[in-house]
Order: sequence, then C-alpha cells, then structure tokens
Amino acid sequence: MRTLTRETRDALTPQMAIDVLRRGNERFVNNLKANRNLLQQVNETSEGQHPLAIVLSCIDSRTSAELIFDQGLGDIFSVRIAGNVLNDDILGSMEFACKVAGAKAIVVLGHSRCGAVKGACDGVQLGNLTGLLAKIADAVALETETVGDRTAANPAFVARVAELNVMLVKRQIMERSPTLAAMVEASEIAVLGGMYDVESGAVEFYDAQMLIGAA
Ligand SMILES: [Zn+2]
Repeated sequence: MRTLTRETRDALTPQMAIDVLRRGNERFVNNLKANRNLLQQVNETSEGQHPLAIVLSCIDSRTSAELIFDQGLGDIFSVRIAGNVLNDDILGSMEFACKVAGAKAIVVLGHSRCGAVKGACDGVQLGNLTGLLAKIADAVALETETVGDRTAANPAFVARVAELNVMLVKRQIMERSPTLAAMVEASEIAVLGGMYDVESGAVEFYDAQMLIGAA
C-alpha cells in the first residue's frame, strides 16, 4: 500500500476519499489488512503529510481510526475524545486538516456500546466529565421515540442516542464553522457520519449517497 503524496491525495474527490475508508474497513472486517511497511512510511512522510480525511472518533480502546479503516502513517488525521463530541479546538483542528492541509472528508464516527453515551443516558456526574457528558445530553434530549426505559440499561435507547449524537455533531460542524460549511458548499470536502459496531468491526456510513451540502 503506497503512502499518500500530495498528487495522489489531491486527485481524490471527497467521494473517493470516503471510498478509500470504506474499502479499508472492508479489509479490516475480512482480516485482509493491506501490506504496509510502517517504518518505510516514517521515511516517506518525514518531509510532509497529505492525509485524505480527518476522523473524529471516541477514545474507546476499540475504536482506533487507523486500525478500523486499515490506514497507515500519513493517511488520516485522527481526533479522539470520549463520546466523539465537538469543541472549538477540535473544530479548529478540522479547519486545519481541510483548509490548510487539504483533507477531503470529515468523518464523525460513533460506536456501539459507548460508555460516554451510556453515561449521558444515565445523567452521570463526575468532575470534569460532567461537562463533556452535557454535550451528549443534547442528543439524549433529541431522542423522543423511547417511552419506556430511557437509561443505559436499554441497548436500543443507547444505540439511538449514539446515532443522534453523530448527527448532532455533524450539524454543529456545519453551523459553527463557516470555513468548513463553505468548503462543503463548494464540494471541496464532505462531512459524513458513521457508526462503528464493536461486535463486527464494521463501519456503517449514514449518508449513503453522500450528503454534500445537505444539512
Ligand atoms: Zn465511546
């Protein structure tokens, strides 16, 4: 598997960048990891990097973006924070990744059985974690279908909140970053949501026929 150069990366459309990730996840799920010499990639990327996407995922030890998308050094920017929530610094990192460094896609990646989502569902309060979970609480409030058990003990409820949390973060990116919104509008980048299944290893992308521009 070749290391991305500026030329190979710049030749990608946002759709193609997403397809690279989609195919990488298929390899991961089928245990067909691409043959890479990571030490060689250290050398090849030492003068500069040309990643194709930035992935916002959870700190969960099972959701390492490089592994689940079968990517090597220099391929993707990776932002990880409990519950894959957004803040101004992460938004700034996304603006750097896309506007300055040329990444073609932003992926907001939730995952099943997320402890942070469960914590928000149960209204957990703990030190600085309380403020982080408050961001996910907005997704809990958006979930209006579950009338029975609205706690972490209800897997269907947790899954629904995780999905809404991804949608919410995607929307926040568009609303809070005029820079990124303009790039989406110009079809220079795509902002995509997805969900990683910790049982199967598979990523489901939500926006099947590629969103672009759609809020
Ligand atoms: Zn998580």
